[in-house]
Amino acid sequence: MFNLICGKIQFVCRRAFALKSASEYLKRVNTGRAGVVTFAAVMEKVKCLIIGSGPAGYTAAIYAARAGLKPVMYTGPQPGGQLMITNDVENYPGYPEGRMGPEMMDDFRRQAERFETDIRNEMITRVDFTGPVHKAWSESGAEIHAPAIIIATGASAKWLGIPNEERLQNAGVSACAVCDGFFYRKQEVAIVGGGDTAAEESTYLAKICSKVHLLVRRDEMRASKIMQERVMNTPNLIVHWNTEAEEVLGQDVVDGVRIVNNKTGEKSVLPVTGFFVAIGHKPNTDIFKDWLTLDESGYIVTNPGRTTTNIPGVFASGDAQDKIYRQAVTAAGTGCMAALDAERYLVEKGF
Ligand SMILES: Cc1cc2nc3c(=O)[nH]c(=O)nc-3n(C[C@H](O)[C@H](O)[C@H](O)COP(=O)(O)OP(=O)(O)OC[C@H]3O[C@@H](n4cnc5c(N)ncnc54)[C@H](O)[C@@H]3O)c2cc1C
Repeated sequence: MFNLICGKIQFVCRRAFALKSASEYLKRVNTGRAGVVTFAAVMEKVKCLIIGSGPAGYTAAIYAARAGLKPVMYTGPQPGGQLMITNDVENYPGYPEGRMGPEMMDDFRRQAERFETDIRNEMITRVDFTGPVHKAWSESGAEIHAPAIIIATGASAKWLGIPNEERLQNAGVSACAVCDGFFYRKQEVAIVGGGDTAAEESTYLAKICSKVHLLVRRDEMRASKIMQERVMNTPNLIVHWNTEAEEVLGQDVVDGVRIVNNKTGEKSVLPVTGFFVAIGHKPNTDIFKDWLTLDESGYIVTNPGRTTTNIPGVFASGDAQDKIYRQAVTAAGTGCMAALDAERYLVEKGF
């Protein structure tokens, strides 16, 4: 019995400790006989809420904090965003020697904290954009009211789910040709997909790599005619029709991919060192779909050249609203724009 009670107290203390950083908006309401503490969420008012902690979210935080908006940021399930799962980032200006993705995002976080961004390691699970003061709820039940909300929830690459694909990410498997193609210059690579992205990324790779194998599941591509022509007219780009990747090969790094012709059943191995997946991305925008205008793929629609959305006071930045560029520097750029747009909006509306 004693052990049971101690266990319960320990659990409760651990939970209370975990929630301590959120203590401003969680109120201790009851201490029971066995030290059982229960919490009830209370409403918290902030000026600017930032949802997401990738390059877009942190940049928005730096600008919003320096403008005196005292931003509160919810980091979500992947603090630091997509760059946390990559090794070398060589194309972000200001890092002449390149930087490891997680180290770069630690730099972003520390810069946001330097200006006193209130960062919380939690996810936003629900929003209500009825306005003019918008509402958001965190997974622990905190209710945040904010007249300006900056969405920076990014996007996730879609993967095939074949053997070794996940294990060899960062060791030859990539979902971003523009980011990682350079590491395979003068080498033989394969890329999967049949849409515009695959067409564009395969021709991009063909400029850097010695040979590119484009694996197309059907006997035609979904890509636009002009993109298909570009593919067909690239001499070192070989299209494998009716072909699927079955398994990525390699112990520590990729050294091949097993492919199968889905018409004939014939299997073979391509001796590639890079394996790119270009079958699309899924923007992390599900929780906004009842409020914001999204395009057919789920990306948030912003007004041309701005970060404003169909809802006044709600701004969108980064990969959640960008299906074309999808780079850290463009995400950071739109994060900056969102903070500037939010600041102007708050002044205009007298918040
Ligand atoms: C393997 C890989 C390598 C890459 N390499 C490069 C490179 O070398 N150079 C380059 O420029 N780009 C690179 N990119 C692309 C780059 O990472 C993205 O363009 C960039 O991270 C997008 O930034 P973002 O802030 O819009 O979103 P993300 O980085 O995707 O961050 C989204 C954030 O939103 C949070 N979030 C999601 N849902 C919620 C929610 N409900 N509540 C709260 N938070 C939420 C997540 O936890 C995350 O913190 C790479 C991408 C990948 C996958």
